[in-house]
Amino acid sequence: MNNCIFCKIVKGEIPAIKLYEDDLILAFMDIAPINFGHTLVIPKEHHTSTATIPENVAGRMFRVGARLGVAQKRALEADGYNFHLSDGTVAGQVVMHAHLHIVPRWTDDSFHWNWRQLKYESEEVRNEMAEKIVKAFKLSSEGEEKE
Ligand code: AMP
Ligand code: ZN
Repeated sequence: MNNCIFCKIVKGEIPAIKLYEDDLILAFMDIAPINFGHTLVIPKEHHTSTATIPENVAGRMFRVGARLGVAQKRALEADGYNFHLSDGTVAGQVVMHAHLHIVPRWTDDSFHWNWRQLKYESEEVRNEMAEKIVKAFKLSSEGEEKE
């Protein structure tokens, strides 16, 4: 996409500190990290949503992301790492080129995800919702929904 900042990074039109690159994906340092070492993994091809990324590319992103997480632990003595992915503006996506965040975590890093835990009204309500999702999932071709 013409005006996409991450496509520009892929093409070398704007700078980035690259950590890994192959034919399908690119990993680079996030410019405004949650924790120092925060890394992004992107498909080289433009996809606004994760849903259209082909399985081989998505698989590569996940696998390399995990290797980078392990590398953060080794290199930065992190205690763990978070994978994070926002799909859609309402979910917090700001850059509209799908990307996977890998955030190194330390026991004392004082960062807290706002992770709430709701309760279903009843088991029936929960089961009905599950059925609805499964029905919609079957309609999409192998889970790769078009944008
Ligand atoms: P999201 O909110 O999931 O869309 O995250 C976008 C991420 O991209 C943020 O963490 C930004 O700090 C990061 N970001 C934006 N522009 C750049 C850039 N030019 N180089 C590296 N990271 C960037
Ligand atoms: Zn793009």
